Amino acid sequence: MMEYLDRFASHVVVVGSGLAGLVTALTLAPQPVLLLTRAALGAESSSAWAQGGIAASLGDDDSVGLHLADTLAAGDGLCDADVAAAILADAPAAMASLESFGVQFDRSPDGAYLLGLEAAHSRHRIAHVAGDGSGAAIVHALVEKVSRTPSITVMEGIEVRRLLKTDDVLSGLICASRSGPLVIPATRIVLATGGLGGLYETTTTPSGNYGQGIMLAARAGAKLADMEFVQFHPTALDAANWSAGRPLALVSEAVRGEGAILVNDRTSVFWPINRGPSLPHAMSLPELSAPKLPKAAGCSSMRERLWGKALPTVSRE
Ligand SMILES: Cc1cc2nc3c(=O)[nH]c(=O)nc-3n(C[C@H](O)[C@H](O)[C@H](O)COP(=O)(O)OP(=O)(O)OC[C@H]3O[C@@H](n4cnc5c(N)ncnc54)[C@H](O)[C@@H]3O)c2cc1C
Repeated sequence: MMEYLDRFASHVVVVGSGLAGLVTALTLAPQPVLLLTRAALGAESSSAWAQGGIAASLGDDDSVGLHLADTLAAGDGLCDADVAAAILADAPAAMASLESFGVQFDRSPDGAYLLGLEAAHSRHRIAHVAGDGSGAAIVHALVEKVSRTPSITVMEGIEVRRLLKTDDVLSGLICASRSGPLVIPATRIVLATGGLGGLYETTTTPSGNYGQGIMLAARAGAKLADMEFVQFHPTALDAANWSAGRPLALVSEAVRGEGAILVNDRTSVFWPINRGPSLPHAMSLPELSAPKLPKAAGCSSMRERLWGKALPTVSRE
């Protein structure tokens, strides 16, 4: 028996409670929002697994121009320069907005942001929250804020399965819930359902992350673009007890930012320090299929203090 929840018909419906969904719901306040999410609020999201932090040109030796130059170089001709410039210029404001929601970035005793160096960045510009546990700490703060925001109604354990249309206009959602199928009438729907990394056998994203939102949008008639852009991350921990289909623990780019180099089983360097996390189109396949790293080989020059203090999550794994 299908249940109809028409009391939310005038709400904006946000699907997903990772960083995108939580921030959207908070930014829309005091406008009424219904936040639907498959697991518990903030759980089973890539956001809660993010380690490295957020890049913004906040240092005295930095500027949006330098950040843009590094981004365009790492993008290797694939970036839209105007879009990249606009996003990078907005980064400090985005951080300020996270702070207004209760996120506390790591700072030195004199109050300055503690900025890390990562991947293709030529300046220290990665702001963290709780070291390399940034994603979990940010999600925790935002979940707290959402729970205290009266304009946001949260429904957990709801999986959106289909978007409904009437006369070619969005008119609602069909969802699966523990108590059975639900129909929620809605005309304003934000899909914040994350990526599709979980489709890959070897992945560092939550395995429930398999592009459902992309499917929902496509079935409702949205045009999909740039689908070939899937982030390739060069370092993960190949634990002895790993079994296919289970996500690997990610080894943050911060490890290379702190000076680690990647070597193959012949101890040849195969990933230069300043190469970004994403796969540039010019990269050749033999490089990609480089032999498996001996355990922790990429981290052989790390000092003990770093593992414990700057990279506690990687250290624990
Ligand atoms: C291990 C790891 C480390 C990372 N490190 C960094 C980093 O250091 N810096 C950085 O900038 N980025 C990092 N990223 C990338 C970053 O985490 C993601 O790009 C970002 O968190 C995506 O946020 P999101 O809100 O779009 O999606 P997600 O956080 O994945 O949230 C998706 C939400 O949608 C829900 N959902 C999905 N389908 C449905 C459905 N059908 N119905 C209802 N709910 C649904 C999910 O349960 C979840 O709540 C990392 C990612 C991973 C996996």
